[in-house]
Amino acid sequence: MCGVVGLLLADGEEHCCAELVDGLTTLQHRGQDAAGIVTACTKSEWESVKFSLVRDLGLVRDVFARVPAAQSLRGNVGIGHVRYPTAGGGSAMNCQPLYVNFPCGLCLAHNGNLTNASELRSQLIEAHRHINTDSDSEVLLNVFAEHLGGALLKEEEQQQQSNNIEAAVFSAAEKTMKRCRGGYAAVMLIHNVGLLAFRDPWGIRPLVFGVRGGGDTAVASESVALDTLGFSLERDVAPGEVVLVRPELPIVTRVCHAISLTPCIFEYVYFSRPDSLMNGVSVYEAQLRMGEKLAGKIRRTFPNDHGIDVVIAVPDTSRPIALQCAYSLDTPYREGFIKNRYVGRTFIMPGNRTKGVRLKLNTIKTEFRGKAVLLVDDSIVRGTTSTELVQMAREAGARKVFFISASPEVRYPNVYGINISSSTELIAHNRTPDDVAAKLGADWVLFQDLPDLEDCVRSLNSTLSRFETSVFSGTYVTNDVRLLEDNNIITSPPTTTIS
Ligand code: AMP
Repeated sequence: MCGVVGLLLADGEEHCCAELVDGLTTLQHRGQDAAGIVTACTKSEWESVKFSLVRDLGLVRDVFARVPAAQSLRGNVGIGHVRYPTAGGGSAMNCQPLYVNFPCGLCLAHNGNLTNASELRSQLIEAHRHINTDSDSEVLLNVFAEHLGGALLKEEEQQQQSNNIEAAVFSAAEKTMKRCRGGYAAVMLIHNVGLLAFRDPWGIRPLVFGVRGGGDTAVASESVALDTLGFSLERDVAPGEVVLVRPELPIVTRVCHAISLTPCIFEYVYFSRPDSLMNGVSVYEAQLRMGEKLAGKIRRTFPNDHGIDVVIAVPDTSRPIALQCAYSLDTPYREGFIKNRYVGRTFIMPGNRTKGVRLKLNTIKTEFRGKAVLLVDDSIVRGTTSTELVQMAREAGARKVFFISASPEVRYPNVYGINISSSTELIAHNRTPDDVAAKLGADWVLFQDLPDLEDCVRSLNSTLSRFETSVFSGTYVTNDVRLLEDNNIITSPPTTTIS
């Protein structure tokens, strides 16, 4: 996961950097590892204008406090990126936006993951391109650069001077999408052209765009960034669609290579902010429905008496879920865990993650003492968080500890940009819910059923017929991922372009 944002202000005298910082801050939940912004100016002499680029490891506020950003990042057009932490933190080399100088001068900010990056990397190297990082985003950028270069040369040969940039950009985007498999939502800054945004042919990763009075345009991973900046949400970028934004010209969009909308369901459970509207669905509303479905599952499992005294959320993501679950069960909802808001995410924290959980969360003892508590979390992945929370609940005096997860059992690796890599470290791998309960030390554990989870989102937009659910189902929409016997995966050997 990562967050991306792009801005083009109609007034060439203005500077968009401060707003990009605000946009990225709003998307900070999508990645806390690194942040970066590149800007340029579209005024008349923009041929001679250079890109201004600042990117570094750290939170948005840290990266842009270290640099007097408003002074160093000039211009009315720009893109920004926040990076999701990868194991070990990752190097500053991989910070985005990334840049290549040919053709035109291109910068890219990317959310997602390509499944055929290594195959593409070899092809690019054969074509004498130099790939300087391990990042699949650099591969995506170079594939686009290769096709844009080719398309511009072709246009020149044919001497179609009018409209040639637009045709070249769309042609390059189409070829890029046909070659790049996986999940990607990307924004690009193209020197002397403007802003480009596109979403993979399945629409796995989210991307929206919006407008503001006076002709300003913004693109972002989530609608919350548009809200913060005072833009009204135009719509989601469609699967395989390209949005081209240029100074003093209307926005042009084209669906270049769509397969079918298959958004990642985990966005609704965990990643996105509840105040986001994604593929026409309010994330908050979907989470309330998840709580209702969980209550249904509890009633089905324990038709006579569930024995729960109090429902307690694992903050913050699962709050709306737990609240609605409690409401549907007609059982009190209480705050039992207090989160230290200054501690970062423990999921990928290097070192002792167990200690990290205790540093982040502490119990309000009176809410547990002598009670049968239901802990509600959005997911159980490796079980580190839940094991610790069950133990903390017992230490606080809980009589019984039940645990329910708003997502089904996470059993398979993710290849589309979520850091869930090896099946063997997943607690639900080869285990039943009762086995998981025994591992966690809980009295019982329940998981949401996948059809129920899908229903929570689909019931808010009936046009969403399928979702990217690979971590739960082992089904990979790009059809190039094969599960091995141990539930780990390999991507298929090099093939030709997808159609
Ligand atoms: P674990 O401790 O490995 O079972 O992880 C579960 C906890 O991490 C839950 O509380 C989730 O809110 C959170 N979580 C789940 N998936 C992810 C992810 N891919 N990246 C970051 N955090 C996650």
